[in-house]
Amino acid sequence: MRDVIIIGSGPAGFTAAIYAARANLKPLVISGLERGGQVTLTDDLENFPGFPDGLGGYDMYQLFEKQAQRFGTELLYDVVTHVDLTGDVKIVKTADQTFEAKSVIIATGSTPKRLGVPGEEQYIGKGVSYCATCDGFFFTDKHVVVVGGGNSALDEGLYLTRHARQVTIIHRRDRLRADAILQKRAFDNEKVDFVWDTVIEEIVGNGDMVTGLKLKNVKTGQAGDYPIDGIFIFIGHYPNVDLFKDQVDLDEMNYIKTDRRTRTNLVGVFACGDVQDSIYRQAITAAGSGCQAGMEAEKYVAELEGKAYPGKLDKK
Ligand SMILES: Cc1cc2nc3c(=O)[nH]c(=O)nc-3n(C[C@H](O)[C@H](O)[C@H](O)COP(=O)(O)OP(=O)(O)OC[C@H]3O[C@@H](n4cnc5c(N)ncnc54)[C@H](O)[C@@H]3O)c2cc1C
Repeated sequence: MRDVIIIGSGPAGFTAAIYAARANLKPLVISGLERGGQVTLTDDLENFPGFPDGLGGYDMYQLFEKQAQRFGTELLYDVVTHVDLTGDVKIVKTADQTFEAKSVIIATGSTPKRLGVPGEEQYIGKGVSYCATCDGFFFTDKHVVVVGGGNSALDEGLYLTRHARQVTIIHRRDRLRADAILQKRAFDNEKVDFVWDTVIEEIVGNGDMVTGLKLKNVKTGQAGDYPIDGIFIFIGHYPNVDLFKDQVDLDEMNYIKTDRRTRTNLVGVFACGDVQDSIYRQAITAAGSGCQAGMEAEKYVAELEGKAYPGKLDKK
């Protein structure tokens, strides 16, 4: 029986592992297909404290992994296919192994919805982005397109006006879903313009960077090329909860519900990072809640064993 199994190897999972490992819990991290998580999709992380010159996402993953292993984290490069988290003994299965643990930390992240057009995957991190806070700075004085018509598209589009020369919102309908106040702010902003009734059929580039889009008007059928420097896609996120959704309570947006100590509705089951955070979705916030989950698992295991908790968490 293991003390703790951590599902997911992004900033949240590895930070939970560092804390759990340093508390002698010998955590097992099951990495999933995306070793290192979403940060590995970017070549430039400039907002993670401690790296004043920025850092490639893959380099960051390797540092996280090294630090977690230094304190005794065990890593399994596999995918969890089934869990039973409802009992005192937590069951976690991969295709060919079954593990038992006293506690489980869920750190499976959330995936930005893709447009699903040619060029999109090829140019992620090279002009295709899903996060204005992360990448807006790279588009200073450039012309960028925002895709989407909801609150996050307008919110992030308005944020981009701090950097970009021009922000064009392309929407497949002739009106937006976003709140009226955000719409007013966008309509009033001289850097923002709109292309209505239009879908993106392809993202094109020169091999290194995005250079333009192929667009089609859904009403007239008219198609054409549209040169741009970058495209920000805000059409929603899928929290990766399929494995857990019948056991763990979710919020109205399908993110795992946690209290402020990363506890779920199931005792001994904690969730951290983007899978329980529909608001910030940053590497540093994921790492922050990973720290909380690691400390909470430590406390839970210590209490199960009748040991006084060695840390100083409040007991409320
Ligand atoms: C292109 C891009 C650029 C970004 N740039 C920045 C930036 O500059 N700065 C910043 O702070 N943030 C950035 N972000 C956001 C940041 O990457 C995320 O907020 C962060 O990675 C979330 O960490 P996480 O650990 O919660 O989840 P993730 O990083 O999403 O990791 C989830 C982990 O769960 C694993 N997993 C999923 N399902 C299973 C399963 N069934 N079994 C086992 N494992 C599973 C995956 O393999 C993965 O390892 C960017 C995101 C993207 C997509």
